[in-house]
Amino acid sequence: MTDYIAVENLSDEMAKDELTYLAELLNKANSAYHGIDSPIMTDAEFDFLKKRNLEIELKFPQYKKPDSPTEKIGYLPSETFSKIKHSKKMFSLANGFENNDLYDFDDQVRRFLNFRVSEPLEYTVEPKIDGLSLSLRYEKGELVFAATRGDGTTGENVTENAFMISDIPKTLPTKTDVLEVRGEVYMEHKDFENLNTYHDSLGKKVFANPRNAAAGSLRQLDATVTAERPLKFLAYAWGELTEPLDATQFGAIKKLKNLGFKTSSHTKLCKSIDEALSHYEELSKIRSELGYDIDGIVYKVDSLDLQSRLGYRSTTPRWAIAHKFPAEYSWTQLLAIDIQVGRTGALSPVARLKPVTVGGVVISNATLHNQDYIAGRDNSGKKIRSGNDIRLNDWVEVYRAGDVIPKISNVDLTKRLKDSEAYQFPSVCPECGAEVVRDDGDAVIRCIDDLNCPAQAIEKLKHFVSRKAFDIEGLGGKQIEFFFADEALSIKEPADIFTLEPRDRNNLTKLKDRHGFGRKSATNLFDAIEKKKTIEFSRLLFSLGIRHVGENVSKLLARHFLTWSKFIHIISLAQNSDSQEYFDLGAIDGIGTTVVSSLLSAFKPGKRRDRIEKLADQLNILDEILPDSNDNFLSGKTLVFTGTLEQMSRSEAKSLAENLGAKVSGSVSAKTDLVIAGSGAGSKIKKAEELGVETLDETEWLSLIGK
Ligand SMILES: [Zn+2]
Repeated sequence: MTDYIAVENLSDEMAKDELTYLAELLNKANSAYHGIDSPIMTDAEFDFLKKRNLEIELKFPQYKKPDSPTEKIGYLPSETFSKIKHSKKMFSLANGFENNDLYDFDDQVRRFLNFRVSEPLEYTVEPKIDGLSLSLRYEKGELVFAATRGDGTTGENVTENAFMISDIPKTLPTKTDVLEVRGEVYMEHKDFENLNTYHDSLGKKVFANPRNAAAGSLRQLDATVTAERPLKFLAYAWGELTEPLDATQFGAIKKLKNLGFKTSSHTKLCKSIDEALSHYEELSKIRSELGYDIDGIVYKVDSLDLQSRLGYRSTTPRWAIAHKFPAEYSWTQLLAIDIQVGRTGALSPVARLKPVTVGGVVISNATLHNQDYIAGRDNSGKKIRSGNDIRLNDWVEVYRAGDVIPKISNVDLTKRLKDSEAYQFPSVCPECGAEVVRDDGDAVIRCIDDLNCPAQAIEKLKHFVSRKAFDIEGLGGKQIEFFFADEALSIKEPADIFTLEPRDRNNLTKLKDRHGFGRKSATNLFDAIEKKKTIEFSRLLFSLGIRHVGENVSKLLARHFLTWSKFIHIISLAQNSDSQEYFDLGAIDGIGTTVVSSLLSAFKPGKRRDRIEKLADQLNILDEILPDSNDNFLSGKTLVFTGTLEQMSRSEAKSLAENLGAKVSGSVSAKTDLVIAGSGAGSKIKKAEELGVETLDETEWLSLIGK
């Protein structure tokens, strides 16, 4: 795009002229686009000019033309934001609440890096602003798009809106190819109050807190609304880069500041975890004077080299943690205790409260966890709330910490009714009347009838269609409840979803004629279901909602077995606990005995197994593809680490190997490709020799992977 003079440098006359010019050009471009002429400019150019036109209009409203393209051209007709896939995932952070959590964090980092306690380890510590994360992509110094965090992988395209935030530079004093800057969009307290007062005066909805106000203001389909909202932006991280910013976190933040971004003046480089903790104390003291909400402090390992060695768990980095502030508290009355039955049959008590405001948000429910929690004991039998139980009509103190569901921290015994009685936990399932059991060592009470309990069935189905599972468009929780209750087109188990269309065809009352559905939405639903008949192995496994088999375990199992049919075959043989397959299953790294027994019971021949097979018969299950490792020689190989490594911890070695596409197993078998033996390695080396498996010592291993 040609060079344009920055809007803030335009004179009155230039602004007026340019608006006239742009109105003519954009209107022409628009009719060319929609009419018979061929387009006279690319979509990107059009977007850019339209944005520029709007920016000039906002700065010089007196020259806004009656035929302004802003008014006339409904350029983005879509009702929702388009999606942008992040070139580098936007992770969330692990949380700590007590000082001990932070000492544990420091320990874990040291253990992973093989650092002694005496070895220096510096942290960059910064306030955690309670706003909305945003990723800004600059190419050759120009802002090309802005995306919200979304689910971390894909966010919403809010580029037009980001252009309206004055804290966000539109151009940078660097022409580096790609620079992605990440930070927080937020609203200051005074601006939040003004906005709410204004909204209130117009009879419009007021926002619950500054974060909601910031999110609502950024995610406006009409970017001119965003422009009117006083949003701020602070940079604290980055995504894809073609040139490194610096060698340290602290240095990189300084660099971002030099590039024109606002950064927090409360960011501090700390020599040790103790120094970081005292910075936390300082910030918690001045927290209320900052003028904006912070919900904690973030600690990041300062060296970027160490950050890259530490790497990531599935959703959080190993090199950072958020130290949350203590929650806010309020007293209210407990009106009722409801029992919800979940997907795995767990009976979860929920407190219904007289509505109360906690930290600016109205709360009317709180979790009561389980029977012990209500009785005043934790999972290990220790007293909580000084051993006070919770009873109906009690006055209770509720609190929230971050986004978690509100909890009850205290009971006011002086206000307890004289005739109140201890709460009796149901002895049968409130949904189906079946027997309930409590497993040894488990605080949870479960309905045992997983085959017939309607509550379990509905929750399983909701899980099955959820975003990380089958993710069927147009089939969410509400629709599941509709179909579950529907007689003509019932969905009682996952397999029924895929027979919906043929059943509808043979039915007298068609789905399209039902309340809430029309021809279009019925067709769309059938199409969406058809599309999801092809599914990845790991996703299918996760979707089944087997206890202890979450996203990570599913992925682990899928990567191990690669094909569904092989997995089913092995699981069948493993039902015999004397078999080699049973032993092998437990030897998969990351798979413990709880997972094994849960899997075996889910796939035990009989009704449960039949349901899974009935479902699998409808599907085209894709083989698992191992992570892309750039044709690495370790890709798909099975490695075993044994003995003590000197240069790095076992967990770091394991994560390195996995990043190179290898599978790491806990035991040596004929399928092992390579054994890496540290000092003191014993029986596994012997076994490797017997089986003729290649063995490397640590130095050889390091040179193999180029370290
Ligand atoms: Zn039940």
